[in-house]
Amino acid sequence: MCGIFGYIGNKNAASVILKGLENLQYRGYDSAGIVVFDGTKPQYIKKKGKVAVLKKILKKNPIQGFLGIGHSRWATHGTPSDKNAHPFWDCKKEIWLVHNGIIENYLTLKKQLLKKGHQFSSETDTEVIVHLLEDVYRGDLKKAAKEVVKMLVGAYALAFFSIKEPDKIIAVRVSSPLLAANKYHQGFLSSDPTALTNHTKKAVVLNDGEMAIITKDKVDIYKLNGEKSKVNLATFQDIPTKVSKAAFKHFMLKEIYEIPEAIKNSIRGRIINNKIKLGGLESVSKDLKKIQELKILGCGSAYYAALYGKYIIEELVGILCEADIASEFRYRQTPFLKKDKVAALFISQSGETADSLASLKKINEEKILSLGIVNVVGSSIARETKAGIYNHIGPEIAVVTTKAMISQMILLNLFALYLTQLKNIEIKNKKEIIKSILNLSSLTNEILKESSAIKKLAKKYFKYNGFAVFGRKFNYPAALEGALKLKETAYINASGYSGGEFKHGAIALIDKNFPSIAIIPQDSLYKKMFSNVQEIKTRKGPVIAITTKGNQEIKKITDDIIYIPQTLELFYPVLSIMVLQLFAYYCANFKKLEIDKPRNLAKSVTVE
Ligand code: GLU
Repeated sequence: MCGIFGYIGNKNAASVILKGLENLQYRGYDSAGIVVFDGTKPQYIKKKGKVAVLKKILKKNPIQGFLGIGHSRWATHGTPSDKNAHPFWDCKKEIWLVHNGIIENYLTLKKQLLKKGHQFSSETDTEVIVHLLEDVYRGDLKKAAKEVVKMLVGAYALAFFSIKEPDKIIAVRVSSPLLAANKYHQGFLSSDPTALTNHTKKAVVLNDGEMAIITKDKVDIYKLNGEKSKVNLATFQDIPTKVSKAAFKHFMLKEIYEIPEAIKNSIRGRIINNKIKLGGLESVSKDLKKIQELKILGCGSAYYAALYGKYIIEELVGILCEADIASEFRYRQTPFLKKDKVAALFISQSGETADSLASLKKINEEKILSLGIVNVVGSSIARETKAGIYNHIGPEIAVVTTKAMISQMILLNLFALYLTQLKNIEIKNKKEIIKSILNLSSLTNEILKESSAIKKLAKKYFKYNGFAVFGRKFNYPAALEGALKLKETAYINASGYSGGEFKHGAIALIDKNFPSIAIIPQDSLYKKMFSNVQEIKTRKGPVIAITTKGNQEIKKITDDIIYIPQTLELFYPVLSIMVLQLFAYYCANFKKLEIDKPRNLAKSVTVE
């Protein structure tokens, strides 16, 4: 995920684009770059770091042009660095391009282009596109674009121009958002409407599979096969709020709303014909095939994701698996059965968590195979593990995690299935599991539709100071995470319990003033959970049930209900955690708390 801004007109393109990028920075800030053309020579500046760094350089060394494109990057392929910053150029420095998204088949394309003699300057997937354009360009950029998009596999938004045709910018949308607009003989292009509001109140929202030709005076829209499409101008009130940051009061809520997209991005290109493909693990597949024991490490929500991972790995792969809190692991004696048959998997959104890094050091010193599930490309954990899987979900800005944890859970499922493939373990319902993973994004959309019901519940309960959250089996880690969300977001002293453990102590808390949330989908432990709920109701404790659609029975004994759609029992925690994230968010909102930066917390805990 990154930000794209383009401009053509009579103003200084570099300053217009710079302003645009400043508004788009929430989409990524690993690096920023701008290229402009003044009719003689293209000039560019690209630099690692935030747009402010670029701004400083531009102030000292201004660049002039009437046409240009800019980019603020969230690295997916290639570390954040000057050379991997966008824009990119072809061998002749005639075509210039910026990109948001991922080109899944870039390695194959790059090999072919290298054979043909193309010169690359970066490690990104993006750079292949501009060389492909060069390869097929015969004096008509639109025609070249049409040919190139046929070769690309992935999800992307592109903006590019050629100094041979300086009257236009071409934009292509295949999944990632893009808007184009005209005003007073100027053309604009942006990843989201907020960055356009300084210039215009109306824009064309490109649909998936559309190409826009933006000139000073008009925007033409084409399908990717070249056929002309209708130009639908939308006012900003009509533009789907999903792409607009301004539509959300807090990043936390915005990021919960990004979960359906985050799931898609996490699995994109990784499930092919019912097989799991994890490119980042290929280099260690031989070692992984042999492992008999897995240790999953994390802190906070990442630890709860790890615990969920343990349940998944034990269920699907059947090897020994333990989840561990990194801050404990680093100081304990930690014996392993056979070091050459163990792997340690580190989960961290930022890839900088100090305790996880220290545990990783310990694992590496022991010469145990280290792996990572990390969101930030090029982060310390990503660098120091032997192999890993990136989340590919764009930046997570709110301090409390939402979409990153869900993505970690999805990747743990892919990892488990990948292990079964390597080890030739037969899973009876593998096809059904894969089908359910592919369907999860749309199920999480259904949870978002429950948002106002969850908000109502929060209004009823936000004044309580304590809560119990409980679930069994796969939903036990979900209960722990739900309780943590209430603590860290709404400052409510909630604790997570396994349904079976509750009566061994915590049930003493229950009276009419102590509410509980029961995660009770109709799965293999439904009956057991039902008894646990009854035990609480007998003691007059208020109960909110999170259960599956169609469950009428539970209505009779609980005070409130939130329904989640049906899926395999492995995946209920994804849905229940999302409900609990929204519940915690709305409780905090009613309490008027500083949601995106709760007191005493930091996004990545880089100190012990
Ligand atoms: N894949 C491109 C890169 O790594 C673009 C990433 C993005 O959309 O943020 O630079």
